Amino acid sequence: MRKIAFGYSTRCNVKCEHCVAAAADSKTQKMEIEQAKESIRELAAAKVGGISFTAGEPLIYRDDICILLHLCRELGVYSRLVSNSFWASTSEKANSCVLQLKNAGLSQLRLSYSRWHQKNIARQNVVNAAKSCIKHGVSYFISFVTDFTKDDDEYEEYLRKHKLLFFPEPVIFSGRAGAFTRLPIHTDYQANCCPMNPYLSPNFDLYACCDAGSHFSRTNFFYLGNLKEKGAEELFRTSETNILYTLIRNSGISTIASYAGFRARDIVTYRKCELCEKMFNSPQMLETLQDAAAAGLQTWHR
Ligand code: SF4
Ligand code: SF4
Repeated sequence: MRKIAFGYSTRCNVKCEHCVAAAADSKTQKMEIEQAKESIRELAAAKVGGISFTAGEPLIYRDDICILLHLCRELGVYSRLVSNSFWASTSEKANSCVLQLKNAGLSQLRLSYSRWHQKNIARQNVVNAAKSCIKHGVSYFISFVTDFTKDDDEYEEYLRKHKLLFFPEPVIFSGRAGAFTRLPIHTDYQANCCPMNPYLSPNFDLYACCDAGSHFSRTNFFYLGNLKEKGAEELFRTSETNILYTLIRNSGISTIASYAGFRARDIVTYRKCELCEKMFNSPQMLETLQDAAAAGLQTWHR
């Protein structure tokens, strides 16, 4: 199924130190509501079956977002919304917002949580938001962003104590987190296949990757084009037929890095997006890999 991360606005009401959605100097951008509706209709016509309203903080524009959620429901598109729970300071406020989202047709709420988010938003808000979802039968989960250090233990314990549904997610060293110190990772040698959800920015630029990939400024490797100029069908087809993207999805970042000459013991020291950045944000290496994609790289599998 085609899916997309929909950036209605890059504006947020807080400024987390680890935010991948923004560089330190970035200016905020926002779509016009009528253009957003038109884009959603076009995406649905191009068989996009899932839209995730994502960072900045979508619920700053709660009424606009509810209009867009209604439209998704009308068009039969699964809708997810990613929020920092700023609106859930009390159970009453949480209930009111969750009910409004439910009535607008929201399919799932994803609540962001981390030791960086929670410097700005009380963690009780996340509990209030999650409990409102449970109470009103709205699907939810908590996205627990972590750098896997002991500093995060108490944050994880807190979620367990409240018996909430959560999934750990590695911090991505891009955007503001690009300045963070990298800590050694301890993991197995793994394929690092990446599903690559496309990201639509507020100025309708479409990227093949919704995370660090929109910051690959030296090569713009994941940039697909502008939705207003090329149309959703053409841009999705570009994303789905690009050989390197297909290899990222199916063979994985580690296999491509191994082919490109990275040592196995070096590969296990990088997180997925960092390794991706090393290869695809380097003009020379990208050129080599593009040549290889048409030849040996595709046969580099077990
Ligand atoms: S991580 Fe989320 S809540 Fe924090 S600044 Fe970025 S968009 Fe806002
Ligand atoms: S591994 Fe590459 S394609 Fe996947 S999310 Fe990270 S930057 Fe994007």
